[in-house]
Amino acid sequence: MLNAINILKDHKLKVTPARIHILELFSEHCKPMNVEDIAKKLHGADVVTVYRTLQTFEKLKIVQQVDLRKGSVFYELTDHHHHHIVCTDCGKVEEFELCVVPEIEKSILKKSKSFKHISEHSLELFGVCKACVKQ
Ligand SMILES: [Zn+2]
Ligand SMILES: [Zn+2]
Repeated sequence: MLNAINILKDHKLKVTPARIHILELFSEHCKPMNVEDIAKKLHGADVVTVYRTLQTFEKLKIVQQVDLRKGSVFYELTDHHHHHIVCTDCGKVEEFELCVVPEIEKSILKKSKSFKHISEHSLELFGVCKACVKQ
């Protein structure tokens, strides 16, 4: 369980109930969430407040956007590096920490005409989950 108050203080953010609740929700839920998910899970929290809070957190790199190809922006904590597999049938999302991207960065840069450095990356995989294959 993350310490929401410490995170806010470390980033010199005012400690507000909305900010604490959103950070705790990310920590408990452990899955990327969009603004609607968060508002619903916080029992009808104001969508505008949730949206603004996420923007503030994103600027400070406390959360990051994830593109799960679900038609809306998802967010998650940046606390540990990982990637996702998404079921294209039911939308199930699984996290994995295996990352080979740093190993291939050198070869990618060698072939690139325009780029000198790679500073970060995101990688999501798409497929069909076991439950959907059985149907
Ligand atoms: Zn599925
Ligand atoms: Zn990676």
